[in-house]
Amino acid sequence: MIKLHDLHFKPFISEDEIQATVQHMVTAIADDLQDEVPVFVGILNGSFMFVSDFVKKYPKPCEVTFIKLASYEGLKSTDDIQRLVGLTQDLTGRTVVILEDIIDSGKTLAEVHRIFKNENVKELKIATLFYKPEAYKKDFKLHYVGMEIPNKFIVGYGLDYDGLGRDLPAIYQLKTTQHMTNFV
Ligand code: 5GP
Repeated sequence: MIKLHDLHFKPFISEDEIQATVQHMVTAIADDLQDEVPVFVGILNGSFMFVSDFVKKYPKPCEVTFIKLASYEGLKSTDDIQRLVGLTQDLTGRTVVILEDIIDSGKTLAEVHRIFKNENVKELKIATLFYKPEAYKKDFKLHYVGMEIPNKFIVGYGLDYDGLGRDLPAIYQLKTTQHMTNFV
């Protein structure tokens, strides 16, 4: 059990399980893309650990870049997605794979699709390490999902609670009390 700010979190997904999941995703994506040299686009901040482990395991040449979006305040996804750093290179004609840490409501993903609408990429694929199917409200196809998880707040492996927890190598889940179950 760990405490971040005012809240307690319990161990949920181990480091080994995360690494095995990342390896499965790498294998699936490398098999599908064959001889393409993809551009992997990580969505900061949360995806930095996932992207780092993913590209270290990726067996073929690839490029890596990031965009920085922010939507979460504390425990809640907000409607206002801020584009803090956009695309900095021309991706015309390229095969792009988005690497997301987690897909919750899908609002961040909608912003990603807006960003890529006019980019004339050859193909846009979405890969997410964690996915909360009960929270997802959009229709965008998710091409690669590492792990489906319940609609509960998690931290670790890049994901934070008000700035803390990103550095943890494993995933922890918020320990809910009776009065919290209505809002997380
Ligand atoms: P969405 O826009 O799909 O609602 O949420 C996506 C973003 O919200 C993620 O990239 C992540 O930054 C944040 N997020 C969603 N669910 C969680 C969660 O359970 N824990 C943490 N720490 N962040 C989350």
